[in-house]
Amino acid sequence: MKKYKLLTPGPLTTTDTVKREMLFDHCTWDDDYKKITQEIREQLLELAHADSDIYTAVLMQGSGTFGMESVISSVVGAAEKLLIAANGAYGERIEEIAEHNQVPYIIYHEHYNQIISAERIKKLLEEDPSITHVSMVHSETTSGILNDIEEVAEVVKTAGKTFIVDAMSSFGGIDIDVQSLGIDFIVSSANKCIQGVPGFSFVICRKDKLVESQGKARSLSLDLYDQWRVMDIDGKWRFTSPTHTVLAFSQALKELKEEGGISAREKRYRRNNILLIDNMLKLGIRPYISSEYQGPVITTFFYPDNCNFSFEEMYLFMKDRGYAIYPGKVTEADTFRIGNIGEIYEEDIRRVVRLFKEFLTLH
Ligand SMILES: *Cc1c(COP(=O)(O)O)cnc(C)c1O
Repeated sequence: MKKYKLLTPGPLTTTDTVKREMLFDHCTWDDDYKKITQEIREQLLELAHADSDIYTAVLMQGSGTFGMESVISSVVGAAEKLLIAANGAYGERIEEIAEHNQVPYIIYHEHYNQIISAERIKKLLEEDPSITHVSMVHSETTSGILNDIEEVAEVVKTAGKTFIVDAMSSFGGIDIDVQSLGIDFIVSSANKCIQGVPGFSFVICRKDKLVESQGKARSLSLDLYDQWRVMDIDGKWRFTSPTHTVLAFSQALKELKEEGGISAREKRYRRNNILLIDNMLKLGIRPYISSEYQGPVITTFFYPDNCNFSFEEMYLFMKDRGYAIYPGKVTEADTFRIGNIGEIYEEDIRRVVRLFKEFLTLH
């Protein structure tokens, strides 16, 4: 099989050294292994700027959605109410999670090309005092828009509500001061900006809010509180842990540090994202999100005017030449997406743009 790099928003292209960690079958109840889990939890708190007296990190088997479902189904009680702010498919997925778990909620829909309005959330909280929790997505991977969690955090904290953030495609790639923003639960997964492989998600939780949630969970395997109670003793996972993924993740954290931490990674992502957009514009390919809201992780592009090719043709052309691109997901326009997280560097972006140019001259 011919190899290619992923220009998708996770799973993404990882280093050989991260992949190599998976060649060892580690014993799950071994002390060395449990220590790795504990170290990962500590490092995640550091990355979140969260004090271990106030916050704790819980790892949860499954992809990112499992982590989000774990939080929503475990911390919002039957007598409480969640306000879901959604401007993309991942915000809307939180609604599906609420539906499936019979979590009481209301939803505020925003246009996919507009950021979540803190003003609007403030109004909704004033209108409905029964709301206890607010959730939103930071980097909406559907479009690539970057929501302003700082503005919303201020409104939610002033109102005294619990704040839940899906930071799946931003945590580790964009610096988030979780504690000073007062975020209560923030979720990401192994295969996004930390640049590990798929297999688990993680939740950084305010401990008092986590303790408060005891007994509210609707699911056994996704019970966030129980997962924490067991893991916090000595690093043992409640059910079979994704050992290979954990080892790879531990290495990915080391490599994040070697790169210079989140700020250095964020710089690389931003530089490459801007380089990509600037050069695609020269080819007549415009981004869907305006530059003030465009995040550094993934870009949605409109097809060029009068084009006569399918996504499939473009995909196969790029794949043959070493890059996998992503179909569009916004509902109202014909688009495709290019992610630039993972082991993607300036030379990749330049090569990809040259390939697009070549493809367009052939069509
Ligand atoms: C990747 C992602 C998720 C989780 O999706 P999974 O397919 O379950 O990994 C959730 N929210 C956002 C914003 C994401 O980018």
